[in-house]
Amino acid sequence: MDFSSKLLENAVNEMSQLPGIGKRTALRLVLHLLKQPKEHTEFLANALQKMREDIKFCKSCHNISDVDICEICVNPNRNHHIICVVEDIRDVMAIENTGQFRGIYHVLGGKISPIDGIGPSQLNITSLVEKVKSGNVQEIIFALSSTMEGDTTNFYIYKQIKDTNVITSSIARGISVGDELEYADEVTLGRSIINRIPFENSIKNN
Ligand SMILES: [Zn+2]
Repeated sequence: MDFSSKLLENAVNEMSQLPGIGKRTALRLVLHLLKQPKEHTEFLANALQKMREDIKFCKSCHNISDVDICEICVNPNRNHHIICVVEDIRDVMAIENTGQFRGIYHVLGGKISPIDGIGPSQLNITSLVEKVKSGNVQEIIFALSSTMEGDTTNFYIYKQIKDTNVITSSIARGISVGDELEYADEVTLGRSIINRIPFENSIKNN
């Protein structure tokens, strides 16, 4: 791509670093911003910068938050004895959208994937096991995507907590193998949480 301006080229290059944004789309977006009043670009740049600098991760569940402990974790109307284990923040958003879950979450920050070099120590697993061992947890619901990595991660956690009194369950697999949670429709996802099955059964079915 030949640019008549180095400034334009820099902006396009930065924009095209984003996932799913090729050089052509980046150019379209940048030219769009140029046509808009200058403040629009300022608002966008400020919002991104402020988000990057000030955003926090909940000290309890690792969900994204503006404060140290997220809104879900401090909400007295939620059932703090039921923890839904998810891979990332998008899963929390997807499950919250169903309106069917009144417990709290634990965000792992990914799943065990040796191919991608992600081992258990890079995920928020220790803090989950500690929570369970503290004795305040009645049930752990595994809600990871039903991929091999998801199953490996579930089983790794299960092994560490199976000797405690905690009930372990897995969301019903109305969601076919390989589907990511965030793409499941709200009704299906909501039902799969209500119709969750004992975790031991989910291992046998695989
Ligand atoms: Zn939280």
